[in-house]
Amino acid sequence: MSHLITNYNRLNLSFSHGEGAWLVGTDGRRYLDALCGIGVTGLGHAHPAVTKAITDQAGKLLHCSNIYQIELQSQLADKLCEVTGMDAALFVNSGTEANEAAIKLARKHGHDRGIAAPKIIVMDGAFHGRTMGALAATANPAAQAGFGPMLDGFIRVPYGDAQAVAKLADNPDVVAVHVEPVQGEGGVNIPPAGFLQTLRKLCDQHGWLLMLDEVQTGIGRTGQWLACQHEDIVADVVCLAKGLGNGMPIGALLTHGAASQVFTPGSHGSTFGGNPLACAVALSVLNSIQNDGLLAAADKLGAQLVAGLQTGLAGVKGLVEIRSLGAMIAIELDRPCAALVQQAIEQGLLINVTAGNVVRLLPPLVMSETEASSLLDSLCPLITKFLEENAA
Ligand code: PLP
Repeated sequence: MSHLITNYNRLNLSFSHGEGAWLVGTDGRRYLDALCGIGVTGLGHAHPAVTKAITDQAGKLLHCSNIYQIELQSQLADKLCEVTGMDAALFVNSGTEANEAAIKLARKHGHDRGIAAPKIIVMDGAFHGRTMGALAATANPAAQAGFGPMLDGFIRVPYGDAQAVAKLADNPDVVAVHVEPVQGEGGVNIPPAGFLQTLRKLCDQHGWLLMLDEVQTGIGRTGQWLACQHEDIVADVVCLAKGLGNGMPIGALLTHGAASQVFTPGSHGSTFGGNPLACAVALSVLNSIQNDGLLAAADKLGAQLVAGLQTGLAGVKGLVEIRSLGAMIAIELDRPCAALVQQAIEQGLLINVTAGNVVRLLPPLVMSETEASSLLDSLCPLITKFLEENAA
């Protein structure tokens, strides 16, 4: 009998090690990784700079507590602010924690302005994490089922609908808009062009905080450090995790302008958050992305994959749409397609299906042109065959 709690529906596959865009199964078989542990290992597996950062730092200092100054935290905050245009950082350990911190910050922003019951605007289709605040902000009924009552204080609107947000201008309790620039778990949903710019204007007009959950879109995934940089806006609050540590658990809350002054000593904290090991690794990740030109590489990889998918799946019945931002790619089908995950494994390919009918690719930014071609050579025939053999 397994002594693991049964909260995951795991596939029958395990790995012994990885290298670059490849994972090696305990069966000795090689798998091309087009998922990156759900958008985490952007630099690929066993990246030498990351390995070196871990081993060097592990021999010096893992942890000392936020009671003390942590120089590596300051260096990481400086670097993150340099590349994102934000002003300040708070470090946590995961995406859901970054979202919890954002929710607390928005509420305190409200209380500081005399709003006793602050409300945060969130979106249909949103995913922000599994802890109680982030779960309440999440729109997935299956994720929430059995865990009520949900935290109060959220108003939900359709994703990408700036008019629906504008209509809430009369509500004096609204303090923030919390949104993913591209919805990941919700199906790689890309909002209409100008959506974030309109939200930025609305937030400026009404004194609301614009809070972006860039846990999945951030750290180069879309070809920019932050997806909001495609729209040339600066948010008040940004949540990061996943790709920031390339597998080392770390999350961050970035703030800009007045939002940087909302938390005061005691407002929030974390024992592990921003420990020297996690910060050393995240610094090595940011430096590698910068030094190796991986933002441009993400763009190029995404363009190659999308072009190949469009050619390889041209005219295939059952394909709804291919959409992408950088190396965040969706192939939406007109029918449930979770079975494709196991079929891809049999071909030596790791993909994911989200929202039931969306094949999601989050390949490592370091994936080579040849590896991307081989991904296409496996995936296009697989999807075509699946659609031929499975009725809508
Ligand atoms: N926010 C977004 C946009 C995510 O995609 C995820 C995870 O998929 C989370 C938050 C939660 O992150 P974590 O699993 O690190 O808590």
